[in-house]
Amino acid sequence: MKELGLWPNWRLREPVAAGAAVEATLAADARATPAINPLADGSPAPQARARTIKDATSALPLDARAAAIAQMDWPQLKESVAACIACPLHKGRNKTVFGVGDEHAEWLFVGEGPGADEDAKGEPFVGQAGKLLDNMLVAISLKRGRNVYIANIVKCRPPGNRNPEPAEAGRCEPYLHRQIALIKPRLIIALGKVAAVNLLRRDASIASLRGKVHEYRNISLIVTYHPAYLLRSLPDKAKAWEDLCFAVETMKTLQSTKPIPI
Ligand code: URA
Repeated sequence: MKELGLWPNWRLREPVAAGAAVEATLAADARATPAINPLADGSPAPQARARTIKDATSALPLDARAAAIAQMDWPQLKESVAACIACPLHKGRNKTVFGVGDEHAEWLFVGEGPGADEDAKGEPFVGQAGKLLDNMLVAISLKRGRNVYIANIVKCRPPGNRNPEPAEAGRCEPYLHRQIALIKPRLIIALGKVAAVNLLRRDASIASLRGKVHEYRNISLIVTYHPAYLLRSLPDKAKAWEDLCFAVETMKTLQSTKPIPI
């Protein structure tokens, strides 16, 4: 309690409905780009690759974009996120915030989206809420980067730290889905309502979602309060502590899907 202080080949077949202005520019760029698989061995130089990946993922219709992202490996995913202009949030960002930690972690903590500190640094949860999150991790014998991965629902800072719009979260979702598929965590902790609602696709209060083991694509998921909320609401820190203890007990019951590293 004390411590709690892309590679399928693709083609742009049709104009994309959402974000028409940005995407018309991207379509023109794509037509000017030779038909290549940007990710195959012997492919163009990295900068050309980054540009093609950006054009490819950001300009694609939703389903095709999700399918392309679902094939990416870690380097491709990082490059794609760094170049992403798929939703208006890219206009206000300084840095994309990909996620941080152990890419084979059993624990995955998912927040909402970057704030000012995270936007400046390009790392999730580095501000005041991040300090509290780090303390929460220590309280259950975990540490950022060691068997823990931290990510957000959206990778760019929403203006004024507002909640991400559903369309913004929707455009960003394939990235988090791919991260989760690559990490294969045993347990996901959704930090706050935005994370819970987006991952569970269910609009409900934190109070009603806490204390239960939910599922996200066959992975157990527990909901707790967002650290930024806990900074403002001291009484709910006790509940967050209960959630963390519940998560530790739940983790013990979950079958390991990975060999324990020596
Ligand atoms: N709040 C979040 O949800 N995520 C961050 O990375 C920082 C603050």
